[in-house]
Amino acid sequence: MVYRRTLRRDVACTGIGLHSGRPVRLRLRPAPAEHGIRFLRTDVGVTIPATLAHIGAQDHATTLRRDGVSVGTVEHLLAALYGLGVDDALVEVDGPEVPVLDGSAAPFVILLHEAGLRPLAVPRLYLKVLRPVEAVHGAKSARLVPSDHFELRYTIGFDHPLLRHQALALRVSGRSFSDAIAPARTFGFLREVELLRKSGLALGGSLENAVVIGETGVLNNKLRFEDEFVRHKILDAIGDLALLGRPLLGRLEATKAGHALHAAVAQKLLATPGAYELVPALGAAATEAKPSTAPAAALRPAEA
Ligand SMILES: [Zn+2]
Repeated sequence: MVYRRTLRRDVACTGIGLHSGRPVRLRLRPAPAEHGIRFLRTDVGVTIPATLAHIGAQDHATTLRRDGVSVGTVEHLLAALYGLGVDDALVEVDGPEVPVLDGSAAPFVILLHEAGLRPLAVPRLYLKVLRPVEAVHGAKSARLVPSDHFELRYTIGFDHPLLRHQALALRVSGRSFSDAIAPARTFGFLREVELLRKSGLALGGSLENAVVIGETGVLNNKLRFEDEFVRHKILDAIGDLALLGRPLLGRLEATKAGHALHAAVAQKLLATPGAYELVPALGAAATEAKPSTAPAAALRPAEA
């Protein structure tokens, strides 16, 4: 049996919001079983569950909203929680946006290592895809298809010589997420930066927290991976699929997709009768997620 997991202790960090440019303090706290992942805006006292039902704006980042109060840029933190198998936690922020830090999920992985993980006394149920569902918008598509593991196959293509085509397939485990996906940073095109700023977005963006692509190359010194861009798209997709609220057994097949399509295909899965069932861990997932052995130990910083 695999059990739900939360954090061992509180951890916190401070950083600026990518779009607002304002400083924000983030604290991650343990939570009881079936609490799920929830955001608490401590400055206004409103709690927002990290579920599909609370999705707000989705241009350039995913925002959660409830009663007119929102938390923006949640996807990298949610990806880290989902990728490392945290089911229940409270995320406190004292402003409208999660800090962007270095534009990847790596700082959140480090923070979660610092917190450590602890099993709860409630079995973990997985959302198993039984029938394919898809969301399509022109040449962009996102499909969820059956698989005994959580996997993603992602293809991107942009009208830019550096980014005509990148593709990557990955089976998600705590290790593959931490090593291959979490360090991949947000990226944007120089030609779009001015436009974003004019619309009040990316005010906190800089070469410290995003890869900026100019006409002939990246403005940053170097990439963390040759295919860092598609890896970041996978990171975003994991963060958006985390809004399903349960660990997924299925494969996302995405082409030129983004936050809106990731969420749309997830919504479609839940809305399609017979497209999924809730199951306890299958063989491979069970060995990977045993609460008292491998992952908990791997997540303790001293042993990492
Ligand atoms: Zn992102």
